[in-house]
Amino acid sequence: MVTGGSRGIGRAVATRLAAEGMPVVVNYKSNSAAAEDTRAAIEAAGGRCELLPFDTSDPTAIETAVEQWQAGHPDDYISVLVNNAGIRQDNIMVFMTDEQWHSVLDTSLDGFFYLTRRLVKSMMTHRNGRIVNVSSVSGLKGMPGQCNYSAAKAGLIGASKALAQEVAKRKVTVNVVAPGFIETDMTQDIPIDEIKRMVPMGRIGKPEEVAALVSFLASDESAYITGEVISINGGIL
Ligand code: NAP
Repeated sequence: MVTGGSRGIGRAVATRLAAEGMPVVVNYKSNSAAAEDTRAAIEAAGGRCELLPFDTSDPTAIETAVEQWQAGHPDDYISVLVNNAGIRQDNIMVFMTDEQWHSVLDTSLDGFFYLTRRLVKSMMTHRNGRIVNVSSVSGLKGMPGQCNYSAAKAGLIGASKALAQEVAKRKVTVNVVAPGFIETDMTQDIPIDEIKRMVPMGRIGKPEEVAALVSFLASDESAYITGEVISINGGIL
């Protein structure tokens, strides 16, 4: 399952995992047209995809959606969870509204908690699971104008490291990817030329590059890696 799989990084991750033979469940919030495009692209390439819309910040919606999915797949469980859904609501701290603070934390951090708590049980029972959480360079270094986003993304890192230790014996790994600037709708409004000067490689990243990393962390080959944060940012230190 990939949350926020209708667009951007999540779409690239879902497409990559499907190309590797995994049936994927693509979550999104409201952009059904984009989600249908993701599904069509996966199916055209011979992959399997189903859509499961829910708002990651709504625990009741998560419970209902997961129950509904499980009822339709009584013999299956979600063995790979990519917590990717996220939003930006930038503002400097002195002007930040409660809404801006909570919406960002609720979507990324609370969403990770509600959904992972629900799905990790089956992974533990089956003694097999991969959880990959999408943080950000902002969660590692902090970014001005992003106290909410930096807090959400740093929180994901702490929670991932704790959870990794809780579930390691059951062969469930929990890792974090921390992208820098990646070309998606989320970064449409950033001054690209200025950003390129900040990045040693002189370019912004592609969603497919993040997807390749997530795919490795979701594979059997990464079995001995857990509790790690891997940056993917063109050399920003
Ligand atoms: P994006 O292009 O804006 O796509 C966001 C995705 O998240 C969409 O699929 C959206 O669904 C979904 N989403 C948003 N709120 C949701 C909610 N409440 N419930 C369920 N789904 C929700 O973003 P992106 O750039 O691909 O970012 C993906 C992740 O990478 C985010 O966590 C972001 O913070 C992180 N990240 C991005 C960058 C970057 O430079 N782009 C860098 C570092 C980290 P709808 O289509 O329905 O709106």
